[in-house]
Amino acid sequence: MVDCHIHSSFSPDSSEKIEDIVDYCIKNNIKTIGISDHYDFRNPDPLFSKGFDIDSYVSAIERVSKKMDLLKGIEIGYDPREIKKINALGNDENFDYSILSVHTIFDKNLHDEMFFRKDNIYEQFKVYFKHIRDMVDNVDEFQILGHLDYPSRYKDYLDMERVFNENKDTIADIFKILIMKEKVLEVNGAGLRYYHKEPNPSKNILTLYKDLGGKLISYGSDAHYKNYVGFGWETVSELLKNVGFLEAHYFKNKSVKCYNL
Ligand SMILES: [Zn+2]
Ligand SMILES: [Zn+2]
Repeated sequence: MVDCHIHSSFSPDSSEKIEDIVDYCIKNNIKTIGISDHYDFRNPDPLFSKGFDIDSYVSAIERVSKKMDLLKGIEIGYDPREIKKINALGNDENFDYSILSVHTIFDKNLHDEMFFRKDNIYEQFKVYFKHIRDMVDNVDEFQILGHLDYPSRYKDYLDMERVFNENKDTIADIFKILIMKEKVLEVNGAGLRYYHKEPNPSKNILTLYKDLGGKLISYGSDAHYKNYVGFGWETVSELLKNVGFLEAHYFKNKSVKCYNL
């Protein structure tokens, strides 16, 4: 297992030190991980929009990378007004890979009640998937599409089957672009901790990806605490095998590596 999606204290929503994450992994026999802290050029939450010093981040990872196989990643938050900067950061040779994620749309966060509300949620999911389709179309310099469909994890009342059926064509478009650009689809285990007990994306969506010829998958726990590193891996790998995937992937110096599920 290679967990490519782990946050440390460089993210405003984590206080875990990289050294402590590494010590936890060594203790638990986890061989390879990637640190992927949040970097947003714009975010309605000022804590997220101030970013961090890239050089300090890279050297903090490198300082402990002798202890284990530690990949240098970054999770870049998408905003259509910042495509140039996003491509430039995605292209930064300091990083083994970047995860491209949508956390905000039109200056609204997706996890609270600002963008998705009970009275508009099905319409807003259409906007959400189209936004991601535009993102993967507009941005070239990234390796992994982060946690597709993750806002569903916060909405216990959501009919996920309906969301899938109403957005199937847009999701198929997203996958056709990913496949054409040889990008990787992340399967994020954090969703398994929430009401729907599904990874992000859900099994229906992963099956569609497979049916369209998608092969490139990465796994991420989205851990913000060291104890969550590797969270959900057993369930995710079983589910992926059931859908028909044989391998998962990660990146070193932006070149793709694979391992058996
Ligand atoms: Zn994220
Ligand atoms: Zn994350």
